[in-house]
Amino acid sequence: MAIRIFNDLTRQKEEFVPLEPGKVRFYNCGPTVYGYFHIGNGRSFVAADAIRRYLMYRGYKVTFVQNFTDIDDKMINRANERGITVKQLADEMVAAYFEDVKGLGVLPADIHPKATELIPEQIAMIQELIDQGYAYAVEGGDVYFRVTKKLDYGKLSRKNLDDLLAGASERVDPDDRKEHPFDFALWKGQKPGEPAWEAPWGAGRPGWHIECSAMARKYLGETIDLHGGGEDLLFPHHENEIAQSEACNHQPFSKYWVHNAFLNIEGEKMSKSKNNFFTVRDILKEYEGEVVRLYLLNAHYRTQLDFRRELVDQTKGALERMRNTVSNLQHIVQSAEVKDLTPDEAQVLGELSQARQRFVEAMDDDFNTAGGISVLFELVREINSRVQQGASAGLAQGALDLLKELADVLGLLQGAFEAKADLDAEVQALVDARQAARKGKNFAEADRLRNQLNDMGIILEDTPQGVRWKRK
Ligand code: AMP
Ligand code: ZN
Repeated sequence: MAIRIFNDLTRQKEEFVPLEPGKVRFYNCGPTVYGYFHIGNGRSFVAADAIRRYLMYRGYKVTFVQNFTDIDDKMINRANERGITVKQLADEMVAAYFEDVKGLGVLPADIHPKATELIPEQIAMIQELIDQGYAYAVEGGDVYFRVTKKLDYGKLSRKNLDDLLAGASERVDPDDRKEHPFDFALWKGQKPGEPAWEAPWGAGRPGWHIECSAMARKYLGETIDLHGGGEDLLFPHHENEIAQSEACNHQPFSKYWVHNAFLNIEGEKMSKSKNNFFTVRDILKEYEGEVVRLYLLNAHYRTQLDFRRELVDQTKGALERMRNTVSNLQHIVQSAEVKDLTPDEAQVLGELSQARQRFVEAMDDDFNTAGGISVLFELVREINSRVQQGASAGLAQGALDLLKELADVLGLLQGAFEAKADLDAEVQALVDARQAARKGKNFAEADRLRNQLNDMGIILEDTPQGVRWKRK
């Protein structure tokens, strides 16, 4: 069975066949780093992270690139408001990005290019477009893309220029330096006080769309496998990326396009004026990151999702149940009398393992994380009823490994398995310290340590092989 992706380019679910067997070149549009990112952006990063993790789980070598837009009007305005440079603002918010996505369990991309670090590549691309007649420079140093020359402009969004013009006459910027109202900026000539870079058409800065085309080409090649972003980016951003890249490279830009649907707050669009604009940084003060991640992934990325506190609270309990199962299993592994699986238990483990197939089926269907999560919960219920006290360590360990394997794909239960390892090391250190105290005939200290372990729920047993410990 193969992964099937709903491809926004064809508006169909298609079998995922990468350009090169076993490899995936994946580009996702990253944040504009002018402030802390909000929970809607968080949804977009978590969705891309889940897709990437799943592709890796299915054996692909994924190269994942996600940019930082660190120069644009919002960056310049915010830096001015705060009385700092655009670079200072970007550095601060890039660092904050990494902290906040870590809270949501999002892995860093393989490459996180910044727009300002690839100015020469963007200039080169713009020059190629001018040379091929796809772009023109105007008074003031701006350069525009000539949409009328790209005959299939609109193929992703299914818009054509006539309809666009008819539908948007009053919204279109009537810049008479442009040949067509939908021509978009590849380069913006410098305005007083703005950061600028030298270019053949005059000093200025790149437009937003060209950065993604230039980064994708530099790090992933002229044709990539997969491109993602939020649904608001489909038009014009992604349409324009396609126009630039394909005009320049004469190759299809991305084979598959995926867009996540929006996240709303308590039924309303997020907005500062409605006072329901929540940064991930603030939400992580209220909720544990993994609770938020589970909540976000519990809806398919293409369905609209509402952030409702009442429902997020329920997620807390669900996650707690999974963690309890993990710690019960760990306890059995630790304290089981029998080590190896009995033949009956081997049968049980075989049956539990069928969850893997169900999980893969759900996730193969356009990365249906909601389906994957329900398989995970079913597995937890089955484990609870079939792996109990008295089971062998082998069965409990087998169940743990299975749970960890599937939870890892979704980036869940990340603390659960590790916290235990830390705790075990701490217990062992106390047990060793108690042994040393006894050897040194410091019985008061040895008793104190025994009591401390007792308070932690640890029972010590003296055996001929030495001191063993288990949980109560
Ligand atoms: P930005 O920093 O505005 O470019 O946004 C970063 C990413 O978040 C983009 O992929 C956007 O499409 C996505 N995004 C923005 N708002 C939302 C939202 N409310 N729900 C889901 N994704 C969003
Ligand atoms: Zn982009």
